[in-house]
Amino acid sequence: ERLVSGSALGGEAAFEPTLRPQYLHEYIGQDKVKENLQVFIEAAKLREETLDHVLLYGPPGLGKTTLAAIIANEMGVKMRATSGPALERPGDLAALLTSLEPGDVLFIDEIHRLPRTVEEVLYPAMEDYCLDITVGKGPEARSLRLDLPPFTLVGATTRAGALSAPLRDRFGVISRLEYYQVDQLAQIIERAAAILHIIINNEAALELARRARGTPRIANRLLRRVRDFAQVRGDGEITLPLAVEALERLQVDRLGLDHIDHKLLLAIIEKFAGGPVGLETMAAVIGEEAQTIEEVYEPYLLQIGLLQRTPRGRVATPAAYAHLGMEVPKR
Ligand code: ADP
Repeated sequence: ERLVSGSALGGEAAFEPTLRPQYLHEYIGQDKVKENLQVFIEAAKLREETLDHVLLYGPPGLGKTTLAAIIANEMGVKMRATSGPALERPGDLAALLTSLEPGDVLFIDEIHRLPRTVEEVLYPAMEDYCLDITVGKGPEARSLRLDLPPFTLVGATTRAGALSAPLRDRFGVISRLEYYQVDQLAQIIERAAAILHIIINNEAALELARRARGTPRIANRLLRRVRDFAQVRGDGEITLPLAVEALERLQVDRLGLDHIDHKLLLAIIEKFAGGPVGLETMAAVIGEEAQTIEEVYEPYLLQIGLLQRTPRGRVATPAAYAHLGMEVPKR
């Protein structure tokens, strides 16, 4: 399990709810998304209507689930949560939809992984709050329409491009979450520290924030790991030198890169003279699946400008050489 993965690691799902902000004003960063949602929520409340369906997309760990729960809280309704892969058959979704109270939020994580047949049940549900079901077989088969309580669907996905057009078109609000700035992550760390009764000074919080890959989930995870060092090695307080030492032992470097990031960059630099190198070739050389490289390893390296995607393949940038303490070869 990668310490710097944006996805939840084993055991974290049970622990995370304690750190989740409950209302919009507690949700740090993502100002544009927040401002828009604030307006839509207020307007829906004024009109005593159900909030329009919302699609949230962005890398794992940026706060999509948190935001879905906040929407429900702000609207004063309950949230039911499920995920695309968990809804295997149309009946699974039908059972959920018919159990909602008027106005409830239905949260579907990884909505791009919804099976086609289930997705088709969602269309009339989203559009007209109704369910089309077929009863009987063969010539006896009849179609029935069942009314549903009005509800808000909040869908989350890491890949908006993987959503079918008919599904995407049925969302009234589509918001993209961005990687967080270092000062915002430091605020998130300080907030989590207060909740968990961890003492950390601002310098140390900033250092953790710089290595958190723009991702609140990673920031909170680094905080908990570094706390262990503070308790065992120090007097419990997280100071800058202690944070730096702990992060070095955890093999999370100054930019939040781990050994896998290093392996990937070094392969491009040492085996392909800095690139360009095709995705498949790189996958074969470092022994990983192309899709994993594309979806898990690369996004952050691209984001911070150590890697570049060109039509001819991946290229390590001069910043990558500098970060690894290597000289850019003259061409
Ligand atoms: P996602 O659903 O995008 O994978 P989550 O909503 O599960 O991400 O967020 C992961 C963790 O990060 C949560 O437990 C929460 O504590 C924290 N978090 C996310 N966004 C924020 C934020 N804006 N402010 C404070 N904490 C946040």
